[in-house]
Amino acid sequence: MMFGQIIPLFFSLFFLPGFFILSLWKSSNRSRFEWLLRVVNAAAVVLFIFIIGPWDWFSYYLRYLLLVLLAAAALVSYHSAQGRPFFLNSLRDTLRSSFFGLLEAVVLLGLLIFVLTGHFYFEEPVELAFPLQDGFYYVGQGGNNVLVNYHNVSRAQKYALDIVALNAAGLRARGFYPAELERYVIYGAPLYSPCDGEVVAAVDGLPDQIPPAADSENAAGNHVAISCKGVIVLLAHLQPGSLLVQAGDTVTTGQPLGRVGNSGNTSEPHLHIHAIKGGAGDVLAGEGVPVIFDNRFPVRNSVFIR
Ligand SMILES: [Zn+2]
Repeated sequence: MMFGQIIPLFFSLFFLPGFFILSLWKSSNRSRFEWLLRVVNAAAVVLFIFIIGPWDWFSYYLRYLLLVLLAAAALVSYHSAQGRPFFLNSLRDTLRSSFFGLLEAVVLLGLLIFVLTGHFYFEEPVELAFPLQDGFYYVGQGGNNVLVNYHNVSRAQKYALDIVALNAAGLRARGFYPAELERYVIYGAPLYSPCDGEVVAAVDGLPDQIPPAADSENAAGNHVAISCKGVIVLLAHLQPGSLLVQAGDTVTTGQPLGRVGNSGNTSEPHLHIHAIKGGAGDVLAGEGVPVIFDNRFPVRNSVFIR
């Protein structure tokens, strides 16, 4: 998630659903159908933002507040619609007077369905052990859709995941976008092997970047690549000097590999992980394979508590 994307996201995160919730709350409806249509439209907007919002920037818990406000608005506004007929004089009159509301519903439900397609995959997945321990981990980028996973446009990184850790307030860092790496909850977290396999690449010695600086020359930064279960798993952006393995080493699931850092092409400390088939030795090439943890396909806003 780049800083420049955050300001427009702030507006879509709070103002867009806020507008729909408030309109529903204050609405006076001539029929219960009109009320129901407003509820559907507000719910579609709220769920859309609930799913795509980068809630680690604003607090993971705030996303649930949206659902509470939506339910409250539906309840309050139902009071005004309660005594009304379901339809106006006729179905025809009702549809005519709700034409724009219906049009809105088609667009909003279409968008919602589109974003939900990002929660499904079609290729054979690889089941891995979650590579971090002792924390509240949050998937910032993940899923099979560019709305929830910016990597999705790349063939090799189609199912790549960016993982951060959250503090007790549901935030990934102390401060909005601090330059000090230690302020990010995940920085320095020990990283463990997600499978039994062989290390095929291990790079160390690249410096951590100070946000918002990034090293696009060495995209993966310090990294470990492990061959296991018929795929190559890449774990990227590790802390310099933290690697505990070398190419050629055999590793077992849960074996310490290094620490999460901020080296390479990264906007802030996080763990990037993806699995590929093929690639001919290039960890950023090949065909992306869906990764599964705990029988779950991680998407943006998935959490893993360890
Ligand atoms: Zn990434």
